[in-house]
Amino acid sequence: MTYINEVFENVKNRNSNEKEFLQAVEEVFESLTPVFEKHPQYAEANILERLCEPERQILFRVPWVDDSGKIQVNRGFRIQFNGARGPYKGGLRFHSSVYIGIVKFLGFEQIFKNALTGLPIGGGKGGSDFDPKGKSNAEVMRFCQSFMTELYRHIGPDVDVPAGDIGVGGREIGYLYGQYRRIKGTFENGVLTGKGLSYGGSLVRTEATGFGLLYFVEEMLSFNNQSLHGKKVVISGAGNVATYACQKAQELGALVIAMSDSRGCIYDENGIDLGLVRELKEIKRVDISEYLDTYPNAEYKKGFGSGWSIPCDIALPCATQNDITLEHAKTLVANGLLAVGEGANMPTTNEALQYLLDHNILVAPAKAANAGGVATSALEMSQNSMRYNWTFEEVDRKLKEIMINIHKNAYEASKEYGFGYNLVAGANIAGFIQVAEAMMAQGDY
Ligand code: NDP
Repeated sequence: MTYINEVFENVKNRNSNEKEFLQAVEEVFESLTPVFEKHPQYAEANILERLCEPERQILFRVPWVDDSGKIQVNRGFRIQFNGARGPYKGGLRFHSSVYIGIVKFLGFEQIFKNALTGLPIGGGKGGSDFDPKGKSNAEVMRFCQSFMTELYRHIGPDVDVPAGDIGVGGREIGYLYGQYRRIKGTFENGVLTGKGLSYGGSLVRTEATGFGLLYFVEEMLSFNNQSLHGKKVVISGAGNVATYACQKAQELGALVIAMSDSRGCIYDENGIDLGLVRELKEIKRVDISEYLDTYPNAEYKKGFGSGWSIPCDIALPCATQNDITLEHAKTLVANGLLAVGEGANMPTTNEALQYLLDHNILVAPAKAANAGGVATSALEMSQNSMRYNWTFEEVDRKLKEIMINIHKNAYEASKEYGFGYNLVAGANIAGFIQVAEAMMAQGDY
């Protein structure tokens, strides 16, 4: 058995109930054989097994009082996965599906993604099985305060810097920071990113993941003598990443014909009215199906994943994990797909990913393509340290440069290790080598 297989068997035995985590590990390991052939010192230092075991896992009780006066209890998580390159960095996800396997898959991917940005940040992730959907503002605030009452002792601007993810946007980050500040009695706003502009947030952070995704996809297409102009795009999701991906895709001349939420998808062949989607999902917080009240000629397809049956040139999964299955991939390819840009984390199953690569579809993998969010978070940390703000144009320019650089590094790693133009393998390899080198240099065992 090779070293990589042996480690994977150990990881499977130790984490057998965490299927998303195992999926993420397997996907990275598939790219690493040539790396271990070239660098036997990594196996001697048992880097892989060390990487798969989080440095620290914090699980905690989050009691809070609902509007009827009843005490509710949720579970809180923070996984400080790897700090070899900098303070742990990664978002918090509030969703009923959250359990340790989801937080670990996200934290594991975050290690490599953060390394790819070239910025000095380690990997971590956290969250809760609390679902903000349907809760009042006051309930969300009380939950966030209780969550932070435990979390504050484990984080800090040089220790661990959480941010948002599914279910955690500007509102939640505000309540979390408010509680942190009250408990600590200091204005350490570098402890969280994705903050509002009024208390140390960075311009472009809100837009960064979606914009960065499109900068990356544009670069990938241009490298392959293609462009976004006139391309038909289907986006899944209607949250932070999806809406800013839609905005930038439209600005770059693409025609976005579909978007979705967890219940279904709207298909508007004339092009999605993004202003209306924002009004429905961000302000009214209702189902995306209400789009048809304004545009009766649009079509509504029920069910999560229903958008992938719509013929398109570019698919941008921006909702959640395992959104594009093998069946969806087959339909997309049969309908003439050119490229996939992963805005969400692990939105494509491993089988679907392999199918897309086997059929020469250009794939912009999540670790690289959605790294713009965390990269801009790191820029927010820099601005907080300097007590200074860059302009929108300046942050946007830096974001674009970072995305272009990630594409270049992923491509070069892919080529160097014999994968040709395979950004999935290249992103895994380039990220892995950065982290392995930092771990080797520090001893770290
Ligand atoms: P939001 O909460 O803003 O939006 C999530 C969207 O996806 C919503 O439209 C939601 O539908 C849908 N969705 C969420 N969970 C599920 C589910 N289990 N099944 C079906 N649909 C679901 O999250 P973000 O836009 O911030 O995050 C989207 C993805 O991007 C996630 O994978 C996240 O990890 C990733 N990401 C986010 C970054 C960021 O900066 N925010 C950075 C990098 C990656 P509904 O409205 O019905 O709930």
